[in-house]
Amino acid sequence: MRVLIPEDEISKRVELVAGQIARAYEGQPLTIVGVLTGCLVFLADLIRRLDLPLRIALVQASSYRGATTQGGELHIQDDLLPDLKGRHILLIDDILDTGRTMKHLVDHLRGLGTASVRTAVLLRKKGRQEVAIEPDFVGFEIPNEFVVGYGLDYDDEFRNLPFIGVLDRPA
Ligand code: 5GP
Ligand code: MG
Repeated sequence: MRVLIPEDEISKRVELVAGQIARAYEGQPLTIVGVLTGCLVFLADLIRRLDLPLRIALVQASSYRGATTQGGELHIQDDLLPDLKGRHILLIDDILDTGRTMKHLVDHLRGLGTASVRTAVLLRKKGRQEVAIEPDFVGFEIPNEFVVGYGLDYDDEFRNLPFIGVLDRPA
């Protein structure tokens, strides 16, 4: 395991992004929608730095990438979402890779009669994006490597690491 972004750097950056979000939503009630499961650590750290009236909701997105399905079909499970009509939404995910997950979710949330939808990601992979979506808030731009830790998993492991790391070779 190689450390890509150490714990203290993440902490400083999350503080900064929280400041940007607070300024963007000044005086406007906010609903944060976190994308399970990868968002959990980022979400928990971020919300404790936001001194704003806010609600939290969760959604799950999973892509089935079978041997024959290249792009993978995205399934959105939104049973956990409360009524979001008229709400200002900030969608939070761990990482923007091709951008397909975010794009799908933004479209889905817009379809629910929300007042506005903005997006925040902790990590964004350089040169990987396939669909047009520009996140409103970004923690770090990273090279095209498979990362784990701080919520991100490999086969559901490593989410609890306090730093972002690169696996030397998949276990
Ligand atoms: P996208 O739809 O943008 O291609 O992919 C986003 C999703 O792919 C993320 O929510 C995450 O679950 C997964 N993902 C993409 N790159 C990585 C990575 O480097 N590490 C981990 N753990 N997950 C990744
Ligand atoms: Mg994910």
